[in-house]
Amino acid sequence: MTEELAQTPSTAPARGPRKLIFETGSPESRCFEAPALDVPAGSLDDMLGGAGRTRAPRLPHVSETEIARHYTHLASMNFGVDSGSYPLGSCTMKYNPRLNEDACRLEGFAGMHPYQPPATAQGALELMVGLARTLGEISGLRAVTLQPAAGAHGELTALMVFRAYHVANGDARKRVVIPDAAHGTNPATVAMCGYEVTTIASDANGGVDLDALRAALDTDVAALMLTNPNTLGLFDPNIVEVCAAVHEVGALAYCDGANLNAIMGVTRPGDMGFDAMHINLHKTFATPHGGGGPGAGPVCVTEALAPFLPGPLPVREATGAFAWMTPEHSIGRVKAFAGNFGVLVRAYAYVLALGGDGLKAASEQAVLSANYLKEKLKGAYDLPYDRTCMHEFVLSGARQRKANGVRTLDIAKRLLDHGIHPPTIYFPLIVDEAIMIEPTETDSLEDLDRFAAAMLAIAREAAADPELMHGAPYTTPVRRLDEARAVKQPDLRWRPTQ
Ligand SMILES: *Cc1c(COP(=O)(O)O)cnc(C)c1O
Repeated sequence: MTEELAQTPSTAPARGPRKLIFETGSPESRCFEAPALDVPAGSLDDMLGGAGRTRAPRLPHVSETEIARHYTHLASMNFGVDSGSYPLGSCTMKYNPRLNEDACRLEGFAGMHPYQPPATAQGALELMVGLARTLGEISGLRAVTLQPAAGAHGELTALMVFRAYHVANGDARKRVVIPDAAHGTNPATVAMCGYEVTTIASDANGGVDLDALRAALDTDVAALMLTNPNTLGLFDPNIVEVCAAVHEVGALAYCDGANLNAIMGVTRPGDMGFDAMHINLHKTFATPHGGGGPGAGPVCVTEALAPFLPGPLPVREATGAFAWMTPEHSIGRVKAFAGNFGVLVRAYAYVLALGGDGLKAASEQAVLSANYLKEKLKGAYDLPYDRTCMHEFVLSGARQRKANGVRTLDIAKRLLDHGIHPPTIYFPLIVDEAIMIEPTETDSLEDLDRFAAAMLAIAREAAADPELMHGAPYTTPVRRLDEARAVKQPDLRWRPTQ
């Protein structure tokens, strides 16, 4: 390996290993003076019945400067969407406007108690009614619950609603059909709901294979779960026929709405024929969600399914007052209180700030960004489905593996040396050595060009110096982890050496 290649300039600041806070400072250093003891010494121990500690805890002795630097350093070791491009396909890692944070921290929202009587929480209820109405409009499915805490939770909620609907019709169905491009949460949801999964293959264009779908459909099928645009970033041109085929056997069509960022204001799942969808507010409507939480996965359904929604739902009564209402055949609660309310506030702030035209522009920009990158990269990497994509596209590193033994994992690790968060890899499962890229609308043209340049440089490096690629990353606080050992023997605890 040449030194020159290993030292590709990184846009990230130097972030080498550093001492732990326990290993820094000195016994004289202080950033906090405890007030003098104002109770008799030993009284606490008496209270604890002799169970108090006998030795002082081993706390770090650091100055205020040192502690400020410690936490600032830790924060800088984290890669976030505020540090650079984060094209994590399917996750919609867009910039989260600070306006949303301001809104959800307003004292009237942040200081509320979930047991407050509705009469004293009119503003919060009005916000939820407004958000539900907005999501109903965007999705084309007017009845909405805001309770679910994430996309996967929304999927489960919707399938429970489907089951209640079928049971109410005296119709005990057993199976749910899912295309092989689906996100793993779809089959997991089906299993959790007590249904059986029937997987169907995608067609040569990456869409639903209509013949395979028709062959899988019968009166035992409760639903089809489909992501559109799907996880290949492709919009299914047969979507109306797909939903019609599902309805012909009395089944329901579910849209995994995680990819709503591609179609806001352009088309609506309700108009395509879907009966229900979830919306990942933390993805499409900009709540920070790297690292896993909290999110919100509202579910939007047709009027026919509305009586089965979880309750209570926020409503506006004839008097103009806002209140809670539980639908007639409700499946019950799926989440405590009003769901993850802070995420709902952020989403509503985002929607109001952008407006209808702004949301549409965001989707159009996201789609344009993805197509721009796809065209720049498709010469250097395989592109198994070479169609106009939506907000994301999937490359394959198969060429690099065959020619040089460089795997997609190596490519992803090497991107870190270029100061870029790697895209999703090895998903969707139907693409060999998959690299799933979602640039989002919030990366500038300059960011997109920087990402493309890094990917093209990596393709050249893979050909010139495969060894370099196997060793990447070189510039991160920790190098390549043994991922299996990191899971099986996690090293999470520091112990003093003396
Ligand atoms: C993110 C995602 C989900 C799951 O959503 P969570 O909010 O993470 O539970 C489901 N399907 C697709 C396609 C996704 O991208």
